[in-house]
Amino acid sequence: MEMPPEESSSFAERLTRNVSRFDVSGKTLLIPDMAPRGSRLLAASFRAFGVPAQVLPTYTHLHLGKEFTSGKECFPCQVTLGDILGFLQEEKKLLGRDFNVTDYVYFMPEADGPCRFGMYNKMQRLVLDRFPEFKDIPILYMSTADGYASTGVLPGEQAKLFRRLAYVATILADVLDRIVWRVRPYEREPGRTDAFMDKAQQDMIDLIERRGQARDFKALYALLGEIASQAKSIIDPNRPRKPRIGIVGEIYLRTHPDSNQHIIRELERFGAEVVDASLGEWVNFVSYEQYRNIRKQWRLAWKRMDAAGLVDASRQWVGSRLEMAWQGWRQNQVYQKAMEHLDIQGDHAIPTVEAQLDQDRLFSFDIGTEAVLSIGGALEYVHDHFDGVVNVFPFTCMPSTITSAILKPLLLRMNVPYLDAAYDGTIQPNREVALRTFMYQATQHKAAREVKKDADSRQ
Ligand code: SF4
Repeated sequence: MEMPPEESSSFAERLTRNVSRFDVSGKTLLIPDMAPRGSRLLAASFRAFGVPAQVLPTYTHLHLGKEFTSGKECFPCQVTLGDILGFLQEEKKLLGRDFNVTDYVYFMPEADGPCRFGMYNKMQRLVLDRFPEFKDIPILYMSTADGYASTGVLPGEQAKLFRRLAYVATILADVLDRIVWRVRPYEREPGRTDAFMDKAQQDMIDLIERRGQARDFKALYALLGEIASQAKSIIDPNRPRKPRIGIVGEIYLRTHPDSNQHIIRELERFGAEVVDASLGEWVNFVSYEQYRNIRKQWRLAWKRMDAAGLVDASRQWVGSRLEMAWQGWRQNQVYQKAMEHLDIQGDHAIPTVEAQLDQDRLFSFDIGTEAVLSIGGALEYVHDHFDGVVNVFPFTCMPSTITSAILKPLLLRMNVPYLDAAYDGTIQPNREVALRTFMYQATQHKAAREVKKDADSRQ
């Protein structure tokens, strides 16, 4: 239905005014709970710069997310919508007349490209606008279009410094997760890893809040080293290594334990050691995509003999290369600090993933989306002798369906167990059977791999 001109302009104005990037100083920033450690360390990074950020309680009001969507939206959109509506309702109940929705800012980043993730914040704006008491909450976004630039989110230089801290905090969260996954399947005493790592996470949060603004990365690395060293002592060295399972898929679903019905713990229960793809992989991918776009601009300017375009693209090219080099250097430092004590799984470089996909003519980065990471990530797991791969995604997710179409026959040919795990909030009665069967295949794969390794070493 076409809107009258005055309504349509106020609607457009509402989207640009109330879904935008602006200075959040002094507001309570509400961050959706995605990867539990990643979200909490990001909130701590904001607090280090004086923004009272908090992670939203999650999965407690899914019914609201479902009630205000049609059923055609992606599942993460429903979950996060339920989270923000539930929080605001509860907060209003708690504070009564003191509740003022303009004291808060809701953080919902977006991605450009063919995916619906670019539409979550607009769609959620429309729903929030239906509640007179919530319609004035501003939505803050950061976008992949400019590599999640934080310019304007904090005053002056602070925005740039915050971005540096947020990147390191993201990698720290990845490594803390990898410590858990390396230790928990082999713990001497059940529950010891979780108890220890909850405390370790809180120590890291406290340190980020205290030393983050000064970007005292040395102090953060030192604490991480201590955590890794102490976590190692939880492992029972007499326990043999288990089949290793790599998880790929859609970033929200694979990192949000409630949405994926705690798939990592479930796989561990059935005898696996699990590694999930990292958050850093996505951030590095976004930077790499920016670099590829600048490269295209440069080539176009060269073809057109556009001198001004060439200068501009060259300037951006240098900035982009420096950014990627900085990220790689910091990521390496964080992983190395933990690896001095514990043999956690490392992370792959995005250009390597592209080179491998190109060389084997499996998929192209020109198509984009998370499919490139999932297909490339799965092949990296195979290369690192994992015994199975699970693709975790929201039901009907477009990039993950592409991933499945390519990985399923490919891994079958390579004789590597593979499982699609799609979620939409319902409990599937055959899920446990599927996981158990998959783990049986992974165990067989590990046994066959070890027999072959023995035979090879005797030759
Ligand atoms: S990646 Fe999947 S779940 Fe996420 S927006 Fe795209 S289609 Fe939806």
